Amino acid sequence: MGKKLIVKACQIATPKGKQAKYGKEMNNLAVIENGAIVVEDGIIQEVGPAADILQAHDLKDFEIIDAAGKCAVPGFVDAHTHFIFGGYRPDEFYMRLNGASYMEIMNAGGGIQNTVNATRSSCFDELFQAGMDRLDAMVDYGITTVEGKSGYGLDAETELLQLKVQGKLNQAHPVDVVSTFLGAHAVPPEFKGRNEAYIDFLIQNVLPKVVEEKLAEFCDVFCEDGVFSIALSRKLLQEAKKQGLEIKAHADEIEQLGGAELAAELGAVSADHLLEASDHGIEQLKKHRVVATLLPATAFCLNKRYADARKIIDQGCAVALASDFNPGSCFTQSVPLIFALACIQMKMTPEEALTAFTLNGAAALKRADSIGSIETGKKADIVILKYPSYKYLSYHTAANLVETVIKDGKIVKQFSTNKRYTEV
Ligand SMILES: [Zn+2]
Repeated sequence: MGKKLIVKACQIATPKGKQAKYGKEMNNLAVIENGAIVVEDGIIQEVGPAADILQAHDLKDFEIIDAAGKCAVPGFVDAHTHFIFGGYRPDEFYMRLNGASYMEIMNAGGGIQNTVNATRSSCFDELFQAGMDRLDAMVDYGITTVEGKSGYGLDAETELLQLKVQGKLNQAHPVDVVSTFLGAHAVPPEFKGRNEAYIDFLIQNVLPKVVEEKLAEFCDVFCEDGVFSIALSRKLLQEAKKQGLEIKAHADEIEQLGGAELAAELGAVSADHLLEASDHGIEQLKKHRVVATLLPATAFCLNKRYADARKIIDQGCAVALASDFNPGSCFTQSVPLIFALACIQMKMTPEEALTAFTLNGAAALKRADSIGSIETGKKADIVILKYPSYKYLSYHTAANLVETVIKDGKIVKQFSTNKRYTEV
């Protein structure tokens, strides 16, 4: 019998349901003032007014978290990251801040190849330990499920290694890690100028091993002008689908290439980035129920304009928010920064942002039936904020409001109140 827990006396703010929320529905939060949540065996058993729930249970059987004056929201789901990698690239960021061009950075040995080299020369234990540390940092922000992609090996051995590390982390760390095969992240130097040959190599030599060893649930591709064309992206994703993987795409980030249309055509679970997505592409995402995953921290770090979240939601799509945490373009997993950017810069409402970072993030990982909301039957992945309302998530700009993180019904993080120094 698992541990029993009651969280009492708080505001509970959550989207509801077992699938993504589309368009206007993203605003529909259930908000209970002075509520309580009953947890048993890691699963939410009851949610409702504290007065009713406390009366119906013998409290001595339970661990009680008194959350008076606080707000409980679902654990955050970060549905797009590249968090397993070797090395860091602070010098490249520094050069960019000092006005260096893309080519200058490349000539100085920067760019993704830098990370690929460092990842190829890392061993399992190094990647695993770095992964543990990064997952710990995510918990501090209230992230309870994270997606992680390969894509810094770009050879069979290292791609598989990255995914194996993620599989081990999923077992060893409380945060749930969902793995995506992104061998088609860039063209490695060994295949320079032979993009199709590289896709064929992935299809013949890497993808079958990923599937056979059950190392990933999703296959993703960096569909972008000069990297993987629509035709090559289609070739890879169709093959991945045939072999039983779900699919995703980095779509229309830099050029309007038609990545959104491709994701819709192939029945992808999500299309990600979408800064340049066409109206037709957005329409297709809606029609084919593809989650539009937006990554505002990347646009922020690169000082680019943001994806048009307002248009995408107003056209009726389901939007998820994620970090895109990676060592190059966006080295942050800051949930509060993303809330600020989503609400202030992208004009999303706080309700839409909360839905996007919980239930719709879960839907982008095909997990909306088990996580992403505080409802009976779902996993007890709950974040208690320091403040009495979810509205503080956008109002207290870019500050971490997390006080307690509950994962699978267990407290995995509790920020203690600072002891103030008093006169002696
Ligand atoms: Zn990405």
